[in-house]
Formats: sequence, C-alpha cells, structure tokens
Amino acid sequence: MSTMTELSGGPALPQERRIVTAIPGPKSQELMARKEAAVASGVGTVMPVFARRAGGGVLEDVDGNSFIDFGSGIAVTSVGNSAEAVVRRATAQLEAFTHSCVMVTPYEPYVEVCEQLAGLTPGDHAKKSALFNSGAEAVENAVKIARVYTKRQAVVVFDHGYHGRTNLTMALTSKSMPYKHGFGPFAPEVYRVPVAYPYRWLTGPENCAEEAADQAIDQISKQVGAGNVAAIVIEPLLGEGGFIEPAKGFLPRIAEFAKTHGIVFVADEIQSGFCRTGQWFACEDEGIVPDLITTAKGIAGGLPLAAVTGRAEIMDAAHSGGLGGTYGGNPVACAAALGSIETMRELDLPARAKRIEEIMKPRLQKMAEQHGVIGEVRGRGAMLAIELVKPGTKEPNPEATAALAKACHQEGLLVLTTGTYGNVMRFLPPLVIGEDLLNEGVDIVEAALSRL
Ligand SMILES: *Cc1c(COP(=O)(O)O)cnc(C)c1O
Repeated sequence: MSTMTELSGGPALPQERRIVTAIPGPKSQELMARKEAAVASGVGTVMPVFARRAGGGVLEDVDGNSFIDFGSGIAVTSVGNSAEAVVRRATAQLEAFTHSCVMVTPYEPYVEVCEQLAGLTPGDHAKKSALFNSGAEAVENAVKIARVYTKRQAVVVFDHGYHGRTNLTMALTSKSMPYKHGFGPFAPEVYRVPVAYPYRWLTGPENCAEEAADQAIDQISKQVGAGNVAAIVIEPLLGEGGFIEPAKGFLPRIAEFAKTHGIVFVADEIQSGFCRTGQWFACEDEGIVPDLITTAKGIAGGLPLAAVTGRAEIMDAAHSGGLGGTYGGNPVACAAALGSIETMRELDLPARAKRIEEIMKPRLQKMAEQHGVIGEVRGRGAMLAIELVKPGTKEPNPEATAALAKACHQEGLLVLTTGTYGNVMRFLPPLVIGEDLLNEGVDIVEAALSRL
C-alpha cells in the first residue's frame, strides 16, 4: 500500500477503505440538504457523500469515510487526484498569473500543451491543436473546423454515441433520457448510423463488424450523400453508451470510407484517451490515424481542459479569430496538463492500465461464469465494464445494475453505471491505484453480486 502513495505522488492520504458512519454520514446528509435547497435539481448525484480529500486510489468524505475509487471523477483523475506534478506545476502557474486570455496575449504553457499533443496523438503528419474548456466544446469545435475545411455541412454519428450536453453535442448524442429529453430542438444536419456492438448485434457477433459497416456506409451514401458529409465523429471505445468496443474491423472500414470521400474522420477520445485503455489513445489498437482527435477528461489531472488536435491543413482552415473563447487553454489548466503528461510518462501509465486489465478482467470473467446476471465482460485497460441482463436472456437489467452499484457504495466502493439501457457497471480506477486496493474493490463487487 505504501507503493500506492508513492505512485500517486499525491497527498499522504492513507490508501485504505474505511467506513466509519452509515452511508451517507451525518455531515454529508447536512450538506445534501443545503445542496437540495441551493443547487438546481438537474445537477444529479451518483453517490450522496460529499468529498473532502482524494488521492491515489481513494476518496475521503466529510464524515471520514474512505472509498476505493473506481470512478476517477468519470475517467478524469487517471494520474490520481492532486498528483504531485499536477499540483506543483499548477501552483507555480497560479502564483505567476492566472489568466491573460490566449487571444489577447499568449503564454508558453498553451503552446507546450499543443506541442505535446502533436507528439502523443497517432500519426506522424504535421499537426496543430486548439484548446478549450470542456469535452463538449472540443467536439463542437472539431465540427466547426471540419465544416469550414470541407465546405460541407452534414455530420455523421453512431448509435450509442455520447458527445456532450451543449446544443450541437446533444444532437450528436444518442440517448434521450437524461441527456436530451425536453431540451430540443436540436442542431440540424446530424445523421445517426449503426455501430458494431457485438453483444447486441442481431445476427450475432461473427459478422457484426462487416454488417454494421455495410449498413452504416449504405445509410451515409444513400440517405445523406458522402459528398455532403463534413465529418464522421466516433468514440473508438464508446463510453456513456456502455463501454462498447466496436467489433474489430469496423473502425478501419469507416475510417477508410471517410478517407475515400474527403470526409474528416474525428475520433472522440475524451473518455478513452490519455492512457485509459492501455495505449495513449484507444484508436491505436487498430492502427487508426484520425484526421482530428478530441481530448479532455484525463488530460489535465482534474483541471478543466480540452483539445482538438489534427492535420495542420485541416486545423488551419478556420480564419483567424474563428476559434477560441475567453478561458480556453487557461494557463493553470495547461500547467496541470503538462504535470499530468509528465506523470503519465514517468510512471508509464499505459502499462499500468494494461496491468489493471490483467488483474481485473479474468476476475470479472470468472464472476460472469458464476452469475447469469452478467451478460458480458468487456473493455480494455482500465476502462472495463460488465453488462447486466436478466439471467438466461439478453434483456437489459438496469434494476440489478442500480442495486449492485448501491450495494458497492454502501461497502465503500465508488462505482458508476452507464449504458443506453442503464445496465452497465463501469470500472474506471485511477491508473495509479495500488493492486491491493484494486483487488479489494473487485472483492466488494463479487460479494455484492453474490448477495444480489
Ligand atoms: C464526457 C465526454 C464528452 C463531454 O465532455 P464534457 O467535458 O463533459 O463536456 C464528450 N465525449 C465523450 C466521449 C465523453 O466521454
């Protein structure tokens, strides 16, 4: 366990699970009453405990409970919370200056993040980047850039896709409740096509990649017209849709189709990127080189930063002043990103993600053999999930998923659910989590599953 604190480099927070009150405890309950009075109800909460400190593989609440963290604030704190290099660099930047606005007077950390992105993202072509505040903003800008470059308007997205909560990204997002319900009308010129979801492909997983690609390409060609499409936007490993790994062969076919027709292929790696899946970026697994890649979440160790990175000639298509925003690429967030990238390199976090898969996946697979409620185990690296069904069928089982999550929370394990059908439990531990803690977390899932 001491190795953990070393790995996280974060504050000396005991790397242990510790439950000392009912969940939620009295202080969290008090704060929750204040939240209900002051915070809009639309801002929901997975777990009704208030955070006090976090680091390594744990999150401590205001009542002194310490939870094993299998959520990383939704795949954000991959380097751990308050990672040493993130805090050191962000603190120095805070003391130097907090903001000048890159559109007014630029600063070095912004440029350095873009240089790092050019080196880390797939492909050895000339690349440029633009920085923003949130993932949704990055996706919006990727679409703006693709449109101005191609002089076309249509955008193609996929079933089960998630791209954000702004008006355009709601349109790009597949699931109605809770993301879109009641919030329309949505942006036009957005077209949705099938994705190769092997577990739920009607004719079975064997020909899923080919059939799904055929259908997607046919729909784009016949219903939209390939020559009208500015961008195809896809998550190489779908996050909010349920940690769906498109069947091998699907992504290369779509990327090839895009290339043939002059369509900008955009990989949305906001959740799957920055070492999460055992590579720097998930699309590397099939050798995909996207024209543009959007990143956020894991990029800056918890500070708000997002980026669009891609082929220089595409990125340069927008006129001067056409891209930007008051805070996009804030210097403190950039400094944090540089600290985060430094940590990823130093600790070889892609390898850590693979090690997490090595430990967790066989254990989850064993559970699936014993419990009919687990329909499938999937994911890569430290982006793993179980899909829950009614035993003996493939019928989604969101009730069991919610019950399992709640049972884990009560035992001191922070887990999240996801999926179009709300029936996927996802595991996104910080990549610096200790192996003892990781195994203890899986023990909790196993025990909760047996009691279900
Ligand atoms: C989270 C997410 C987004 C949106 O990012 P925000 O920072 O919440 O705006 C977009 N795409 C994917 C794949 C995501 O997981």
